[in-house]
Amino acid sequence: MKLKDKISIVTGGARGIGAKICEELLKEGATVYIFDVNDKEGKEAAGRLQSAYGNGRAYFFNVDITDENEVKKTIDEIVKVQGRIDILVNNAGITIDNLIMRMNLADWKKVIEVNLTGAFICSKHVVKNMIKKRSGKIINISSIVGVHGNAGQCNYSASKAGIIGFTKSLAKEVASRNIMVNAVAPGYIQTEMTHKLDENVRRKLMSLIPAGKLGSVDDVAKAVLFLAGEDSDYITGIVLNVDGGMGI
Ligand code: NAD
Repeated sequence: MKLKDKISIVTGGARGIGAKICEELLKEGATVYIFDVNDKEGKEAAGRLQSAYGNGRAYFFNVDITDENEVKKTIDEIVKVQGRIDILVNNAGITIDNLIMRMNLADWKKVIEVNLTGAFICSKHVVKNMIKKRSGKIINISSIVGVHGNAGQCNYSASKAGIIGFTKSLAKEVASRNIMVNAVAPGYIQTEMTHKLDENVRRKLMSLIPAGKLGSVDDVAKAVLFLAGEDSDYITGIVLNVDGGMGI
């Protein structure tokens, strides 16, 4: 087991890509704390994971990652019990798509706040402990649209581009303390988020993916697992595309 006894936090772990990441971390021996605002699916996910991987290894906290006090309090609680946090996966994210002329300032701010500021808040409070321990892995989930842009997603793509800048800056800041910070940029992955796409858009997208298919949550979770484990100990500040070649 590659992550035996490691303590991890996965934001947005109640469903979709985040839930799969939790499962992969658990399979490799880690303990997982889910931070999510989706109470129903969060509790269900933690229950399912506990049944599969044992009590005392999967927990759900109803934490809004944009609420700094809540995040800090919960991280402090985990550190008090476990003594450390080894892995943080900043995965929680939302979309509120619209063309710029129709995009409200509130929808712009909301997406930036969850996708970018949320990652900042969680990283800030986890890094404090990682610096003390001189060890840690932070994996930020960006998106291919953060690199290439996408019409109708100015807010979302700006937040995901921001995640890449944030990843590289933080990587430079903390590498000397043996904390590695990387990003994963998924292409189009089959989840609730992409269920919302209409059939025409979906067909057009397929024609842009050299691999000829949408990705799976497994594909993303495997990349995260690599960046969370010791096989990537000398890798920091990278953006790992998981996109079937879409970004080539
Ligand atoms: P999803 O909507 O299925 O899951 C996102 C989770 O984040 C949900 O459980 C939601 O409750 C949680 N969340 C939202 N706001 C939160 C907040 N303020 N605090 C805590 N939790 C919050 O989405 P997904 O498709 O699994 O996407 C996961 C990540 O991958 C996101 O960052 C997304 O932008 C990114 N991504 C997804 C795709 C894709 O094709 N699905 C592609 C590229 C990147």
